[in-house]
Amino acid sequence: MCRHLAWLGAPRTLAELTLDRPSGLLRQSWAPRRMRHGTVNADGFGVGWYAPALRPEPARYRRAVPMWTDASYASFAGTISSGCVLAAVRSATVGMPVEETATAPFTSGTLLLSHNGRVHAAAAMRELQARTDGVVVPESRCDSAVVAALLWERTSRLPLAKAVADVVLTLGDLAEPDGTPARLNLLVTDGTQIVATTWRDTLSYREDPDGVLVASEPDDDEPGWVDVPDQQLLVADTRKVTLSSLTS
Ligand code: GLN
Repeated sequence: MCRHLAWLGAPRTLAELTLDRPSGLLRQSWAPRRMRHGTVNADGFGVGWYAPALRPEPARYRRAVPMWTDASYASFAGTISSGCVLAAVRSATVGMPVEETATAPFTSGTLLLSHNGRVHAAAAMRELQARTDGVVVPESRCDSAVVAALLWERTSRLPLAKAVADVVLTLGDLAEPDGTPARLNLLVTDGTQIVATTWRDTLSYREDPDGVLVASEPDDDEPGWVDVPDQQLLVADTRKVTLSSLTS
């Protein structure tokens, strides 16, 4: 399982959000506290952020190495601040490639996506081929890259939250050949809102005076964190966080 987070609010540096927190992503890469599947997140990491004064599409930095080994990231992360950041550390699912193109965040246009979970990659690929007449090829054979391509296809015709929910409901009941049920905690942003799902893994959020942080697990032991129940759709903008059931 991977761990991910998204921040929307007043500008914060990448270091504040990913490296400096007591139980933040850097620490979660080797000692996550709530991970249900797997032990460490050492198969890669990535960060996407927006600089809307310069362009609408986010910038993205991702590597197929453990976050703690990338001294270059640590050297610049304190110098970039943004009002919308999405970041993830990865524990590759068995059978999935360890490569930069399999590492979140995935991006298309103004969107960033991270997937914490696993899905039947071949079945998801068949769904993608059927939807796009085989024209769209994901950037990696990793299940998460296929999920990303399925979301990009839907966002061309649906509002973001509806598109995210539709991907989860389409794939959510697919079990893998060994019976493992799909796990689909998605985290998506377009720079103005955060959309997240809980589908068989953990998610929490915290509303601060200057913004909202949505994360696989709390990055400290302070009060204020809200745990999101399973099978929920979370939509957050700078004014409020809304939860609704994915299944009713
Ligand atoms: N299945 C995805 C991958 O292999 C996500 C894994 C995870 O959540 N640990 O990268």
